[in-house]
Amino acid sequence: MIDLAEVAYGYGNTTLLSELTLRLAPGSFHFLTGPSGSGKTTLLKLCYADLTASAGKVSLFGQDTATMTRDQIARARQRMGVVHQDCEFLDHLPLYENVALPLTVAGRSGDDEAGNLEELMGWVGLAARREALPPELSGGERQRAALARAVITDPEVVLADEPTGNVDWEMSLRLLQLLVELNRMGKTILVATHDLALIRAAKTHVSARVLRIAKGRLQLAGSDL
Ligand code: ADP
Repeated sequence: MIDLAEVAYGYGNTTLLSELTLRLAPGSFHFLTGPSGSGKTTLLKLCYADLTASAGKVSLFGQDTATMTRDQIARARQRMGVVHQDCEFLDHLPLYENVALPLTVAGRSGDDEAGNLEELMGWVGLAARREALPPELSGGERQRAALARAVITDPEVVLADEPTGNVDWEMSLRLLQLLVELNRMGKTILVATHDLALIRAAKTHVSARVLRIAKGRLQLAGSDL
């Protein structure tokens, strides 16, 4: 689905990540962990071609991004759901319309989609907030909405950057369960998180690989989690 081979990246003249190889096989579940500032968000951005690697090769769905046109990259991105840390919403639209926006953009609407939207809003605990405007939401509510918006189109790959950073433990487990269910349906999942308790909780439900960024390199985390 997504392949990074010997990838390097740095902002300005610095080298943040180097010799980084990562293969997100179809149906796999990965956690990405590492200290704040180690490059988790940067790595996710490389995975959805928001940043261009300074060395190495990034392939999306079998195609080298270096040879892809803008349109091809846009189409590849439509097959992914991305949960950004600083999720942006259209402030003048009610929450449910924000969550449904990727469907609208893809020209998909109808009874099936409406049913899925209601179900998803309920799952992330936002059914009662459907008419709220984004500025009225708490940080945790925004995060839950961001996850719902990322998965509403039923993407093949979900890349989530700290999707549970602002929510309580019970809701974290609920959001995790949503990701686990999506994985059981065959979706490929990558979750960046510093929450080791969440990773431990996930391990009883899903066979996930845990990767850690340390000193610019990616390592398989040990079983000491
Ligand atoms: P993490 O997600 O692990 O906290 P990030 O990928 O956000 O790490 O950031 C890694 C490092 O790169 C940090 O030191 C951060 O300050 C730096 N960085 C991130 N984005 C930029 C940017 N746009 N310009 C310059 N430096 C950046």
